[in-house]
Amino acid sequence: MSLIEKIDVTHHRLPLDPPFVASWDGRPRQNFDVTVVRVTDSEGRVGFGSGDLMLGLEGHEDLFIGQDPRHLERHYEVLSHIQFHYGRCWPLDLALWDLTGKIMGEPVWRLLGGRCDRVRAYASSGVLRDPGAMAETAERFAEAGFAAMKIRFHRGDWRDDIRALEAVRERIGHRLELMVDCNQGWRMPWDTEAPWSLKDAVTVARELERLNVYWMEEPLHRADRDGMRRLRDRVDVRVAGGEMTRELYEFRDLIAEGCLDVVQPDCALVGGITGLRRIAVMAREFGLVFTPHTWSNGFGVIANTHLTAGIGEAPFIEFPYDPPEWSLERRDYLMATPFEHQDGWLVLDEQPGFGVALDEERLAATRLS
Ligand SMILES: [Mg+2]
Repeated sequence: MSLIEKIDVTHHRLPLDPPFVASWDGRPRQNFDVTVVRVTDSEGRVGFGSGDLMLGLEGHEDLFIGQDPRHLERHYEVLSHIQFHYGRCWPLDLALWDLTGKIMGEPVWRLLGGRCDRVRAYASSGVLRDPGAMAETAERFAEAGFAAMKIRFHRGDWRDDIRALEAVRERIGHRLELMVDCNQGWRMPWDTEAPWSLKDAVTVARELERLNVYWMEEPLHRADRDGMRRLRDRVDVRVAGGEMTRELYEFRDLIAEGCLDVVQPDCALVGGITGLRRIAVMAREFGLVFTPHTWSNGFGVIANTHLTAGIGEAPFIEFPYDPPEWSLERRDYLMATPFEHQDGWLVLDEQPGFGVALDEERLAATRLS
């Protein structure tokens, strides 16, 4: 029987020149940090994980060494306790799924149920452009084969955001479904701006309905469950959220209390694949859309795509992409081959695990520790 022999965690930093100015971050990003976790078994196979910084694992590796890597529910319990006391280490869950797939000779999407091997992507933009440039970006996405695009709000006055959205709708008509991310659920550490109130959110939601927006993401703070429920009652646009919700019981409450139409946890940031497959199934039983947030790195995009495809039926999955500022070269620098869309679809293959090869040379050149 294969046993876990060692766990290695390395940290890497890609300098961003020019810096990346993300709509949700008041500070231009000078670097893109990536952590890679590798789990080696007694037969020399290695499972990879990435997508979060793995703060909190140090000193706890012995809880996994000597265990059967396939005891994923046991490992999930230990990781959830490490998260409670120290920090999020969910890429280790991803590495254990990758290793389990390699042991069993199956891709992760098939181990999860094998519903399908692909999910339609939406191009998830990250930069606040003026209305004309937003319309140009949307045109490029439509020409590249995408069927949907997500637009960010955060220009200071939401009326300016609406003008950008109007310019996009006017240019592309109904060739693209449009999602809007209001990013009110959380803030960066230095950003003390208050989230919208319910009345703010209702006012903006009515504009989004007029422009036939597919979903309104994070219109309120993540803790405002009552507000989300009331918003959902008052407007027709789908309400999406949950990208930074940390506990599975919080998702249970968001779902059971009728707060969301679209549930968006990220398996690199909460619960791993082992925890989130429960949420995916619960969302389906409630007739909701389960479609993860994926804005970490290309490994996180792939892992979330395996989860979504394997359990199935999401209309779209996030594909972080806004060149030139957010290119595949930046997003996927840890991987030997960038994860490209194929005519607007994210397509998985038959390679065991996640089927990811790392760019060892690049990782050596960008290594911090
Ligand atoms: Mg978001």
